Amino acid sequence: MPGVIFFNGEFVSEEEAKISVKTHAFNYGTGVFEGIRAFWNDKKEQLFVLALKEHLSRFKNSCKILHISLPYSIEELTEIVLKLLQTNQYRQDVYIRPLAYISSEKIGVKLVELDYGLTIFAVPFGSYYRDEEQVKAIVSSWRRISDNAIPARAKCCGAYVNSALAKSEALLAGFDEAIVLNEDGHVAEASAANIFIIRDGVVVTPPVTSNILEGITREIVISLLQNELLIEVQERNIDRTELYVADEIFVTGTACNISAVVEVDQRKIGDGKIGKITKSLRELYFEIVRGENQKYSFLLTPVY
Ligand code: PMP
Repeated sequence: MPGVIFFNGEFVSEEEAKISVKTHAFNYGTGVFEGIRAFWNDKKEQLFVLALKEHLSRFKNSCKILHISLPYSIEELTEIVLKLLQTNQYRQDVYIRPLAYISSEKIGVKLVELDYGLTIFAVPFGSYYRDEEQVKAIVSSWRRISDNAIPARAKCCGAYVNSALAKSEALLAGFDEAIVLNEDGHVAEASAANIFIIRDGVVVTPPVTSNILEGITREIVISLLQNELLIEVQERNIDRTELYVADEIFVTGTACNISAVVEVDQRKIGDGKIGKITKSLRELYFEIVRGENQKYSFLLTPVY
């Protein structure tokens, strides 16, 4: 069902939200975006946006890294997102996509002295994987972009060619997901999700200096592990073969929530089923994001 879209200062119909083929961002990938989820609670008849402020703040940082001037404050962007969802009257889970981009219709690769556009749209969105409790992954032959080539902590449009190559390689080989290594051979993340492994009761995840996207779900999960499940979390480099001997592996992200990886490079992780810690974490997470946990209601912005 076509909806209303925020497009360069106005709410317009989907048919009106169009760009020229000459658009700089379309030609060179010179845009930055966010992916935000809103969860519908049927009992409460309420739509909750998860970590809106955190996503908008990362969006502003991505813009800053790419010299994209965005004349909206976090408060103004919040208002636009809420109005967009209210206008479309969503009563289901949705994915929200803010996108700031270089709108000039000019040949020439640079980021400055150009025009900038902003669009925000939303689409109904369900599960990202075939089954969030049994993701089969391979280690990709593609390496993760390095911060000194394309900033890894910014959600740059063009950088997603890297994610798409890795993910497609996995899909074409019959698997669900790719785990991508850094140029130095350590684990960075999955194609569009952060990664955690559990070894002997300790949770390990690569540090933010490992060319990862600084995931917002990652931050939430670290805090839940430490404060609610009382499990130690280490941020350190992870070797490829640590994946094979891990007791549990899970990936986190706005699209994939918290999904259990049960196989890597055709080796079973644990007993090949979702692990205990991953299961508890998923239960707690879904309680929180659907607005059923008062203690963490600060993470949610109700739409209605
Ligand atoms: N890494 C990449 C490359 C991503 O695209 C995403 C999804 N935004 C993530 C990690 C997870 O980040 P978040 O939890 O903020 O969605």
